[in-house]
Amino acid sequence: MLRATMLCLSGALVSVVALAADPQTGSEYDRAAARVAARAAQNPSGSAQRARNVILFIGDGMGISTITAARILEGQNKGGLGEDNRLSFEEFPQSALVKTFTANQQTPDSAPTATAMVTGWKANDGALSVSPATPEREADAAKVAPNKLATLLEQVSERGLSTGVVTTTRITHATPAANYAHTPYRDWEYDAQLPPGATLQDIGAQLVTRQKTGQGITVVFGGGRESMLPATTADPEYPQINGRRHDGRNLIDEWVAAQPQSRFVWNKAQFDAIDVNQVQHLMGLFEPSHMHYEVDRREDGAGEPSLAEMTRKAVQILQKNRKGYFLMVEGGRIDHAHHAGNAYRALTDTIAFSDAIRAAAQMTADKDTLILVTADHSHVFTIGGYPARGNPILGLVRAPDAPDYTRDVQGKPFATLSYANGPGFAALEKGGDAGLGRPVQPGRRVDLSTVDTEDEGYHQESLVGLSAETHSGEDVALYARGPGSSVVRGSIEQNEIYHIMRRALGF
Ligand SMILES: [Zn+2]
Repeated sequence: MLRATMLCLSGALVSVVALAADPQTGSEYDRAAARVAARAAQNPSGSAQRARNVILFIGDGMGISTITAARILEGQNKGGLGEDNRLSFEEFPQSALVKTFTANQQTPDSAPTATAMVTGWKANDGALSVSPATPEREADAAKVAPNKLATLLEQVSERGLSTGVVTTTRITHATPAANYAHTPYRDWEYDAQLPPGATLQDIGAQLVTRQKTGQGITVVFGGGRESMLPATTADPEYPQINGRRHDGRNLIDEWVAAQPQSRFVWNKAQFDAIDVNQVQHLMGLFEPSHMHYEVDRREDGAGEPSLAEMTRKAVQILQKNRKGYFLMVEGGRIDHAHHAGNAYRALTDTIAFSDAIRAAAQMTADKDTLILVTADHSHVFTIGGYPARGNPILGLVRAPDAPDYTRDVQGKPFATLSYANGPGFAALEKGGDAGLGRPVQPGRRVDLSTVDTEDEGYHQESLVGLSAETHSGEDVALYARGPGSSVVRGSIEQNEIYHIMRRALGF
C-alpha cells in the first residue's frame, strides 16, 4: 500500500500533498515534507525566504566525535589548546540532529543515506535513488525503471539551474552517484561489474546518459577514471594501469562530446589553467580510483587540487548561471580512514572538508545561498579517558597536573582516541608485532608508552577485531546557513534534508 503510493507520486503532486499531510500518516516522503512544513509554519518570516543556490556538503562518516576531535586537532595545529577552536561550519547559525536509519538497516551505509538526502525517500542498503520496492541487485532496466526516485539534481536541471557534483572519492562512488544514477546496487560502477545479461546501465554509463539528455551536470570533480575508460586504454597519469570497461566505451570522450563547451582535466596544472568563462561543462577526474587523502596529496606526481580548490572552481562556474545552482560536495574519504582505524587521516580530511566549506561560505552570500553541512552516518570512533585541556588529541591520556599517563587495569597507558571495532584489534589478538616492531602478548594490550600515537600511520586500538572498522548508528549533525535554514532545528529524519533544500528553492 505504502509502496504503491510511493511509486505514483510525481514531484509536483508530492509538494501539494505534503502541505496537507499529517506528520504521523501518509508516505515516508509526505511525512518528512510535513515535518519540515510544520517547522516552517512556526517561523513564517524566516521560512518565507527563497534560496537561489543550494550547496549540500556531506562529510562521509563525519560523526559528531569526528567533528569534536578534528576541531581540537585543527586548534592544536594552530598552536592553541584546541578545545575552544571552531571548524568553519560550527559558526553557522542553525543546527539539528539527524536520524540516519534506512529502510532495512539500523546502522546505515552511504548509498541509502545519500538517497534519503537527495530524493526524500529512505532506501535499502546498496540502493542509489531507487525505492525499497526494487528487488535486490535487479539488473533488468525495465524492472528498475518504475522504482526510480527523482533526485534534487534532476529537478534542478529541469528548471534550468546549473548543477555540480564534487567529491574526493570515485565519481561513481555511492554518495556522488546517488545524485545522478538509479541502481539497486552501488558496486555496479562500470559495466564489467554488472551480472551477465544485465540491461541496466552501470553508474559510469548513467553519468554520460544524463549528459546526452542536454541537461547534463555542469561540474563533475573527483576520482574514478578507471570506471570511465576501456580496458584497452591506458590511464593518462599511470600508463601501466588501464581502464576497467569491457564495452570498449570511452565515457570521458563521450561526456565531453555530449554538450558544447565541455572540457576534461585530469591534473592540477590543467585544472588551474581552466578559464571559467570559457567552459560550460567541466569534468575533472584526478585519479583512476579515489583521490588521495589530504595528507598524501603532496605525493601525487601529476598534482591534485584540494577539496577547497575544487569547491572554489565549481562555485565560480556555477555562479555564471543567474537562475542559480545546486552543488553537492563530499568529503568522501573521512570514512575510508575511519574504516582503516586511522584517526589521523580521518581528522585531517575533516579539516580539509571544513576548509572547503569556508571557501564556499566566503564566495556566496547568506541572503541567496543555502549551505547545509552534514554527514551521511557516523563511525564507532570515541574520545575517552579524562585527558587535561590541551592534551594532544592524538596522544595518550594524561590527566590535569598528572606527572604521568593514566594507566589501564594492566598498568598500561592508552590513547584518547579509539574504536569499538576494526583493525586495531590485531595488536591484542594475534600476538604479532602489529606494525609496532616488537612482539605483543596475546590477549593483552600493547604497551603504548613508547609508541608515537600521533604519527600519521598509527592505527588506533579497537575492542572487536574486524578487518574494517564499521559505521555506527547514532544521529549525525546538520549545520545550516542561508535562506530556508530556519527549519534546520530539533531532531529530524535524514530524508527531511531533501525537503529542506526543495522548500528553500521554492519547488
Ligand atoms: Zn563507509
